[in-house]
Amino acid sequence: MSRLDTAVQADPLAPYGGVEADAAWADEVRRLAKERDAVLLAHNYQLPEIQEIADHTGDSLALSRIAAASEASTIVFCGVHFMAETAKILSPDKTVLIPDARAGCSLADSITGEQLRAWKAEHPGAVVVSYVNTTAEVKAETDICCTSSNAVDVVASIPEDRDVLFCPDQFLGAHVKRVTGRENLHVWVGECHVHAGINGPELAERAAASPEADLFIHPECGCATSALYLAGEGAVEAERVKILSTGDMLTAARQTRATSVLVATEVGMLHQLRKAAPEIDFRAVNDRASCRYMKMITPAALLRSLREGADEVDVDPDVAARARASVQRMIEIGKPGGGE
Ligand code: SF4
Repeated sequence: MSRLDTAVQADPLAPYGGVEADAAWADEVRRLAKERDAVLLAHNYQLPEIQEIADHTGDSLALSRIAAASEASTIVFCGVHFMAETAKILSPDKTVLIPDARAGCSLADSITGEQLRAWKAEHPGAVVVSYVNTTAEVKAETDICCTSSNAVDVVASIPEDRDVLFCPDQFLGAHVKRVTGRENLHVWVGECHVHAGINGPELAERAAASPEADLFIHPECGCATSALYLAGEGAVEAERVKILSTGDMLTAARQTRATSVLVATEVGMLHQLRKAAPEIDFRAVNDRASCRYMKMITPAALLRSLREGADEVDVDPDVAARARASVQRMIEIGKPGGGE
């Protein structure tokens, strides 16, 4: 038995390894991508070497749109499974590959299609709003998808007297409920293990230690509520606190006058922020906030994907058609931004 077999047995999520991201690797990746007529897309939370080799980097929705507009017949989606599924929903005629299909998402896994159907049965007539971090099956049961940029606009577009079921993220749900003041918004208690680990006390401590720094906070973070509270209490100037999707963080990085910024989201985001504004000192609120699923897309996994045409992502055509309708409604309302 090889050492890799042992590792896989000990940890079912052990990533593919043993390949260094050197110049020969980069040449081979580019050659194979050309041979397969593939476009390489990388999410902002990917390893820096994967972001660097990709044709495009971005947030989940921006990448799905690029995938749909691309002339390439194959999409290699370096991200987590629900993102590759969303690309397939929007590009049903293209081959969509993810370098490691085990790369899941604890937030997307916090509600299943069956659980959502049972929740809907308890609230007949309610409108279902789901964050994009959901499986195709959950999207198919959803009326309108949303991103963190347009979640408030999506909920505000629903008549006041209709109940709203919001899933799966409790922190984004709490943010939307606070902003809209809507009592008939029911929030599913799901969370991302990475974002939930970025907590309020840690943020307060870091903010106090760096009084000159801006705070860039993703609304899925456990600390989003604390950040607004700190601002309300005057502990942190309100202008310093910016609740932003990952795409909006890059825009804010190019516009801010701050010389240092504390960032509360997955640490992979720092790579793009530092590239966007090299003169700014970007620091993580919690440098342990790293998503193990995102980091499963290793140089070895990408090489294997291109060599073997694996792992292919498929979505049942009926599920895809219903899921597509909820994603299309999301795109029509407000400024959808890019979600995670
Ligand atoms: S950081 Fe959280 S929400 Fe994002 S992919 Fe990882 S587990 Fe999912």
